[in-house]
Amino acid sequence: MQNIVERPNSGTPQPFKVVVPQKPGGFADRFDFTIEPYLGCTFGCDYCFVPGQSIVHSEAFMGAWGSWYYPTSENIREEIRHNFSTNKTSAIYLASNTDAWQPVEKKSLITRSVLCALREYEFSYLLCSTRSPLITRDIDVIKALRGDVQVGVSIPTNLESVRKLSEPAAPKIEDRIKTLKVLKDAGIRVRAHLAPLLPHGDDFVARIVDVCDSVWIDYPDSHTPAKEKLFIKNGWNDWLSKNLIEDLFYKYQNAFPSKVFKFGQKHFFDPLSTSAGN
Ligand code: SF4
Repeated sequence: MQNIVERPNSGTPQPFKVVVPQKPGGFADRFDFTIEPYLGCTFGCDYCFVPGQSIVHSEAFMGAWGSWYYPTSENIREEIRHNFSTNKTSAIYLASNTDAWQPVEKKSLITRSVLCALREYEFSYLLCSTRSPLITRDIDVIKALRGDVQVGVSIPTNLESVRKLSEPAAPKIEDRIKTLKVLKDAGIRVRAHLAPLLPHGDDFVARIVDVCDSVWIDYPDSHTPAKEKLFIKNGWNDWLSKNLIEDLFYKYQNAFPSKVFKFGQKHFFDPLSTSAGN
């Protein structure tokens, strides 16, 4: 287990906002805002695209991805008030560059503060995305929000052996499946994010569809060098192929037509949809 550092180097590497307006072109561009409670993520998935983003400085400066995080500014309520008080139709994504329920959130409660602040405003749609069972702590606040809320739980495989090779610091798969169930039983709309889809057992999707409302399977426009290296090192080269992922998408869609399978980044945003996409 590696040593986790808060704020590697002194101060913040560059100013970063909690509430980030979205521009055309990104995979989250149908959202009006993303909310980023942290910079960095100590789940440290080896395939993560975030280390390639401009907000993250070089590994030499910040340390290895997964070994550090910065909490956001103290001005959460002010930033949220500034962006939401007059905008009742906002669609929000929490979060695009970090996992808002990563381990430090248990004691810092920053993400919970964000949700509590959001209770004061109406919005059209909020997608909370995480791979952490810690989100169930916040069911009470999520249910008090004033808009359409959906929670996406990232589950790229059902094989612990594959998880340990690709995201060893992330929660166990069984715990994530239980998280989907707990959220759904609480009356929250949930979807599974198979992103990126990794090698998995035959019963993977059959198991998932029982505990969620829909499944989204990712296929990115490009792969990061770190992801390619991980896949090649483990002999998963075929899983970099869009054809393989697309074939699996159609196979699962045919097997579970009522579960609204969505494929590709253009379908990442699709609140209250009931039809399958391609
Ligand atoms: S949980 Fe998400 S943000 Fe964190 S390292 Fe994994 S893919 Fe990246």
